[in-house]
Amino acid sequence: MSDVDELIERLARSTGRSREELLEKVRELQERWGISKEGAVLALASELGVDLMEAETGEGELVSLERAISDGLKSFDAEFVVVRAPEVVETRSGGRMATAVIADETRSAALVAFDEEVEKLRELSEGDVVRGENLRTTAFRSSPQIVIDEETSLRVVDEHEDPDELIERTTSELKHGEYVRVRGVVVSEPTDTGERVHFWLSDEEGSVRVNAWGDAAESALELEYGQGAVVEGWVSTRGGNPVINVLRTHGRVEPAEVPIRPAIKRRIRDLEEGDVAEISGVVVAVYARRRYYEACPRCGRAVRDGECPEHGPTEPERRPVLNLVVDDGTGTARVAFFGDLAVDIAGCDSRREFFDAEEEELEERLLGESISVVVRVRGEGIVEDYDAVALRGQLLDDEDLKREVSMLLRELEGEAREEGSEAGRD
Ligand SMILES: [Zn+2]
Repeated sequence: MSDVDELIERLARSTGRSREELLEKVRELQERWGISKEGAVLALASELGVDLMEAETGEGELVSLERAISDGLKSFDAEFVVVRAPEVVETRSGGRMATAVIADETRSAALVAFDEEVEKLRELSEGDVVRGENLRTTAFRSSPQIVIDEETSLRVVDEHEDPDELIERTTSELKHGEYVRVRGVVVSEPTDTGERVHFWLSDEEGSVRVNAWGDAAESALELEYGQGAVVEGWVSTRGGNPVINVLRTHGRVEPAEVPIRPAIKRRIRDLEEGDVAEISGVVVAVYARRRYYEACPRCGRAVRDGECPEHGPTEPERRPVLNLVVDDGTGTARVAFFGDLAVDIAGCDSRREFFDAEEEELEERLLGESISVVVRVRGEGIVEDYDAVALRGQLLDDEDLKREVSMLLRELEGEAREEGSEAGRD
């Protein structure tokens, strides 16, 4: 496209007139004044009240962060709010890198600067509404980023009262590459892999796995099952399910009063693949013959042919596993307990004791016991209705059982009332 054509395009966009109509007028002006085509376009623009030169120097159209990222724009202008102030770190090559969290009404994103450009970013603080010109979209490890380079200018134009509201999300609203703030209830005991701490967080919409590093990992370890928490971090959706990664810069994991009660108690027949749910029932089968698998000592994933899918060549260790089948009267679920969860549920004090126990002894201990388990449903089972992984589990004593039974009774009474009132309407 020639420069003149581009000017006509831009004029058509900003006035809503057709190209044909504008070209006709340009020809008229050329003939009347004997000027060049470009001169005629500029004259027409000023007649119509459009400043094409200003548009060309970048004072043009503002695009949303969502559009800039989804279209991978290489140069764009945008107005956004600084949600988290920039943090500066040294890069491996000895340079400097600053990252701020920014957001508009459409999404949040990382705004990064390197070396000399770091100073531009450092002047920004939380709550600043910024007009950014000549910004660029890139990707780092498949996560979108917005980059500041020597062409970029940043100008604070206003103040935002509550930047937090721009990053508040529920578990069903998580988008890859966004920085989010999610409130929920901790539904699994936080687990320390030595490298990071992970746990599951549920709200009324669903559940999400949280990985935390550094200081955030320390705070995550202090959380307890059933406690309310606020989690802030970067969303990754690799593998289909969203994960919130709480990194060393930005990000937080804090206990919090949470008014919501996630509805995770579920009957087995109501489970669906991907659910995180709490089921209660009776142990009807114990598969205790093979009680370990070859695991990567760093992340716990299965090592095949001496390779961890995440960490490469690895000297594996034996990691406990125990499969139980739970029946709650509505269906059956095969539940796999891994690591210390397996050792605990088997009633053993150490891994050694767990590995050495007689198969019959474990069966005797567990068969017919009442159990409550928080599970993540992997899918339908081959023999059982569902195949699931335990995130937490406990055998129920008589007192727990009474509570469970009275809750179930209340629920059944409720259902009976509903059915009764439905029948009454007929
Ligand atoms: Zn590994």
